[in-house]
Amino acid sequence: CMRESYQQEVGAGSKCLRPDLGRVVVVGGRGRLGKRFAEYFTASGYQVSVLDKDDWHQATELLADAGLVILSVPINVTEAVIEALPALPAHCTLMDLTSIKEQPLGWMLAKHPGPVLGLHPMFGPDVSSFAKEVVLYCQGRGDNDWLIAQMGLWGAKLVAVDAAEHDASMGFIQALRHFNSFAYGLHLKASGADLNKLLTMSSPIYRLELAMVGRLFAQDPSLYADIILSNSQHLGVIKGFREQLNQVIALLEANDKAGFIERFEEVASYFGPLASDFMHESQLLLAKSKDSRSG
Ligand code: NAD
Repeated sequence: CMRESYQQEVGAGSKCLRPDLGRVVVVGGRGRLGKRFAEYFTASGYQVSVLDKDDWHQATELLADAGLVILSVPINVTEAVIEALPALPAHCTLMDLTSIKEQPLGWMLAKHPGPVLGLHPMFGPDVSSFAKEVVLYCQGRGDNDWLIAQMGLWGAKLVAVDAAEHDASMGFIQALRHFNSFAYGLHLKASGADLNKLLTMSSPIYRLELAMVGRLFAQDPSLYADIILSNSQHLGVIKGFREQLNQVIALLEANDKAGFIERFEEVASYFGPLASDFMHESQLLLAKSKDSRSG
C-alpha cells in the first residue's frame, strides 16, 4: 500500500539526534511544505506541534519549551510572523524555509539572540521523500550542526551557501525558469494552440518539454508570484533575458544564419562538457519516461 511504503520511507534512518531538544514548533505547519517537515521530525521521534494562523492564542504556551521553531508561512507574511513571535528560549534554534534567504535571515537574527539557521529546500511538497533532494542552508548563528546532520540522516543533500549569493543564484534557478514557463504557457493560450492536438504530434522529448511547462500550472500561483517578486534583482535578470530575445529576433529578421550559428557555438563552448553530459542525462530520462507511460 502507498501509505505504508511512504511511512517506511519517512522513518528510514530517522534516528533522533537530540532526544532532549524540547518541542519542535512548525509555524505554518498545516501548509504544504511545513506539513512535510512536521512529518519528518515526528518520524524521527521529536515532539512536534503546529502553530498555524488561527493558533496564535496558544503561541506563548507552545513556544515556552521549544527547542526548534520552523517558519513555513507564505513569503509575504514572513516578516510579520517573525515580529509576532514571543521571546524564544535562549537555546532554541529559529529556522525558516523561505525561498529567499537574505532578508528572512536578517529578520530572524534581529528577533532571536540564540541559534538561527536559514533553510531553502529546493523541492516542492509533492516529492515522495527527501532522499537525494537538495537543501540549501545559510548559517545564521550558533550550533546548528546537529540539525544539518539530522536532515542528512533523512537522505537530503545539505549544501551551505551565502545568503546574498543564494538570492542572486535563484534569479537563474527559479525566477527566470518559472518566468519562462509562465510566459510560454501564456503565449500558447493567447495563440489558441490546441494542446491535445500538439501532444498527438509530440514524441516523448516534446511531451516532456511541454510537461515541464504545464506542471507549473498545477501549482499555487501566489507561491510563484512571490518567488519572482521576492527579490528586485530577479526583474533585472528577466529584463536582461528580454534584451537577449530581441537580439536573437534581430538575427532572424536579418536572415543571418551565420550569426545564429556563431552565437550557438559560443553557447556550446560556454556549456563545455556539460552539453554532452546533459544530452546523455536527458536520454536516460526519456528512456525512463517511455517505460513509465503506456500508450
Ligand atoms: P502554504 O500556503 O501551503 O502554507 C503556508 C501555511 O502558513 C498555511 O498553513 C497558512 O495557513 C499558514 N499561515 C499563513 N499566515 C500565517 C500566520 N500569520 N501565522 C501562522 N501561520 C500562517 O505555503 P508553502 O508552499 O508550504 O510554503 C511555505 C514556505 O515554504 C514559503 O516560505 C515558501 O517560500 C517555502 N517553500 C515552498 C516550497 C514549495 O514548493 N511549496 C518550496 C521551497 C520553499
